[in-house]
Amino acid sequence: MTETARIVTSYGKVYIVELADGRRLSASTRGKKTDYACGDQVDIDVLNLEQAVINKALQRKTLLYRSDAWRSKMIAANVTQIVIVVATEPSFSDELISRALIAAEAEGIRPVICLNKCDLPVADAARTRLAYYTGLGYPVVEISAKQDLSPLTPWLEGQVSVLVGQSGMGKSTITNALIPEANARVKEISTALDSGKHTTTHAQLYKLNATSELIDSPGLQSFGLAHIGVEDLPRLMPDMARHLGQCRFHNCRHRQEPGCAIHAAIAEGTISQERLNFLQRLQDELSAAAASKY
Ligand code: GDP
Ligand code: ZN
Repeated sequence: MTETARIVTSYGKVYIVELADGRRLSASTRGKKTDYACGDQVDIDVLNLEQAVINKALQRKTLLYRSDAWRSKMIAANVTQIVIVVATEPSFSDELISRALIAAEAEGIRPVICLNKCDLPVADAARTRLAYYTGLGYPVVEISAKQDLSPLTPWLEGQVSVLVGQSGMGKSTITNALIPEANARVKEISTALDSGKHTTTHAQLYKLNATSELIDSPGLQSFGLAHIGVEDLPRLMPDMARHLGQCRFHNCRHRQEPGCAIHAAIAEGTISQERLNFLQRLQDELSAAAASKY
């Protein structure tokens, strides 16, 4: 019998799907297909009370890729919000924040930066670094996963959120605080599938309340952006986007061209040099990725 279900756990090759009535089945795929993500709506064949086969994914509202080298590996599908978790210590990566923000902008997903470990005395240095993103219009929410998560909870309301971040930032602590049974459930399912070794690609969707859901996607190091056109990049970065159309050449790549409005903004101090360096690295990366497709 063919039915529509939703992927609530992804182990990379094996999935757990939930039917409309709440029943959960373990699902495999046809052939070697593994391009499904947690949060996907899928068309399945129900085999018996416990098992199903996934035929195809239905149209996705949004999709986030894990990394370009792993293009077929996806972080999550159909999320409405990315919560980018950073911490006061260890030091966080601006590269990861910038990549997450671009992935979010490209998909029309709301990004929220969550600064964790604000109970530590080193919080001010992190706040200063994050001020640049506040200036771009992105919300920064301060929490301590160990002491007080309440500033984050209103942001999760009514959203399908995915938590992303480098390891050590406190993602597991946040997930476990929001969903007390998270730890236990992951262990139980891993044991059932005898797949402890799959934990790095393991993504899990949790219901927070009737309207809010959270996808935890551990082990995330980067965001794949190869699906984005290189010419679209500046439009997806608010500090660059502000100046588009002001360069002397309409096809300015903001490199050595005379009359470049972005270089002028750097001279004025309204765009940071690091952001332009990042844009140029990304332009090179996406150009190389596009070239390797042919
Ligand atoms: P993950 O790798 O992102 O999942 O990070 P973890 O949740 O494992 O946290 C990494 C370390 O930071 C652990 O030692 C946590 O106890 C610690 N940690 C997490 N949240 C906080 C916090 O709000 N304050 C402090 N001081 N430590 C925290
Ligand atoms: Zn320019």
